Amino acid sequence: MNVDEDLKKNTTVAYISMEIGVDSNIPTYSGGLGVLSGDTIRSSADLELPMVGICLCYSSGYFYQFFNEFGEQKEREIEWNFFYEFDRIPRPISMKIENKDVKVSAWQYNVIGQSGHVLPIYLLTTDIEVNEDWVKKMTGSLYDSTSRWNRIVQEMILGIGGVKLLKSLGYDNIQTYHLNEGHGSFAMVELYNMLNGDIEKVKEKVVFTTHTPVPAGHDRFKQELVDKVFENRMPAEIKKLADDKGEFNMTFLGMALSRYRNGVAKKHGDISRKMFPQYEIDHITNGIHLPFWVSKPIRKVFGRKWPNWRANPSILENAVVLDPLDIFDAHIKNKFNLISYQKGHSWNLLDEEMITIGFARRFATYKRATLIFHDIDRIGKICKNNIQFIFAGKAHPKDQMGKEYIQKIHEAGEYLYDNYGVKVVMMENYNMDLAHMLVSGVDIWLNTPERYREASGTSGMKAALNGVLNLSVQDGWWLEGYKMNHLAGWGIGPDDSNPEDPGVSNDWDLDANALYEILENEVIPTYMNHDEWIFRQINAISLAAYFNTHRMMLQYAEKAYRLKKQKPWKFE
Ligand SMILES: *Cc1c(COP(=O)(O)O)cnc(C)c1O
Repeated sequence: MNVDEDLKKNTTVAYISMEIGVDSNIPTYSGGLGVLSGDTIRSSADLELPMVGICLCYSSGYFYQFFNEFGEQKEREIEWNFFYEFDRIPRPISMKIENKDVKVSAWQYNVIGQSGHVLPIYLLTTDIEVNEDWVKKMTGSLYDSTSRWNRIVQEMILGIGGVKLLKSLGYDNIQTYHLNEGHGSFAMVELYNMLNGDIEKVKEKVVFTTHTPVPAGHDRFKQELVDKVFENRMPAEIKKLADDKGEFNMTFLGMALSRYRNGVAKKHGDISRKMFPQYEIDHITNGIHLPFWVSKPIRKVFGRKWPNWRANPSILENAVVLDPLDIFDAHIKNKFNLISYQKGHSWNLLDEEMITIGFARRFATYKRATLIFHDIDRIGKICKNNIQFIFAGKAHPKDQMGKEYIQKIHEAGEYLYDNYGVKVVMMENYNMDLAHMLVSGVDIWLNTPERYREASGTSGMKAALNGVLNLSVQDGWWLEGYKMNHLAGWGIGPDDSNPEDPGVSNDWDLDANALYEILENEVIPTYMNHDEWIFRQINAISLAAYFNTHRMMLQYAEKAYRLKKQKPWKFE
């Protein structure tokens, strides 16, 4: 699977990301960021964008999650064999970490677009013969939390190793290094050296996408740690640009040394501009790769109506012409598929007749997975004989609060089943395969983050595409989606239209109450009326015309990469 020389010469964009979700079983992703990167690559390949991807190859992945009898999360390292799917590049590059000469190699994985266009991804690794054992472990696991040293070393390999590797492979026409979040910002250090310390030239080559709406979430390292791993090789000028009250801030560096910066949804753009008023920051709302996320039954319905929908997803705007019976049938297939899978993996078996609410994502605390159970008896009464729940999601191994939320869901489940016969199940080891089943097989997709913490969110887009209605706090993409089409689901609590209180109150009482009222007064009565429900499903599908990575990548191509349309991109 050698990449031919022409392709290398024509490649002008390097996409650098700490996570890329290329395949459910290739453990190089932990959540939304990695899934977005994967979808970005898939759409870029379809659109024949001249791109190459850079990520790390984590030899023990993120982690495999399971629950013990008390509902506590347990973790195992993943043993996986990538040799069958990947090609090893022949010559490693060298880079300095502390005073050590570290060899970095890479596995190549080609993503093939719809027309056969090849988009190579290079997954960097130190796990090669020539390195000592402790060096081999540097690329061991994603978001390894054993030490900050480990983390900074991984980010050095990603940023510096990434730029060096592309050069050594003969990609000598890269005009844009697209840093997907700040993890790759050390790339600028290598570019600075390559370009003889010309800051303006470095800026000209970098595009930076931020995903983090709160300052506390930005990736930072203690200055001493930076000095330790770089020894005296970190340029003073760069250190100054990244300085955040004595710490080295990767987002600061991304902002300072890029020609184009963006947030990942309209609201997130506003927030980023407030956080960094000195910079010009645009926004490009995230999307999903529709052919990857569409379920088979729904895909068949689309294919019969619009044979060319894959190349022209904006046609989904006309979803109202779809036959309601077809959508009903397709959804039932998805629902049965999910529930039959669930029955094989649990002792408490879900029921096909019930309205099924799904919630699955990383168990970061701001996502408030337990909000729905805030008033447990009220939700029990509402759901009795009507509604059941299915949850999934991993908490970072070091996130004690996230882990407590997982346990609370198990406890709430036992209480609700004992007192109201309401079923709440939690599936183990959330990954993209399970996500496929969940986002298409439930009736309602629930999302209750604290406002303005969800930069975009993408799982709700996957649900909408498959005719599943969103029930979500108005934040991230849903602020846009719900405004675009009120029939595609429901917005919990206020939107951001009140300038006095921009809705940032994240009061659990208020939000839980708003959620319960929607369930009682809207969801249950609407579900009883089949025609109305299906009409809403069709309206949800129409959102996919906009919330997809084809539209998103065309915006990046034009605004961020400044690519000329020499190639007739598949659609306008
Ligand atoms: C889509 C997806 C996510 C992102 O979910 P959000 O609700 O947007 O945070 C996370 N994990 C997996 C496995 C996904 O498929």
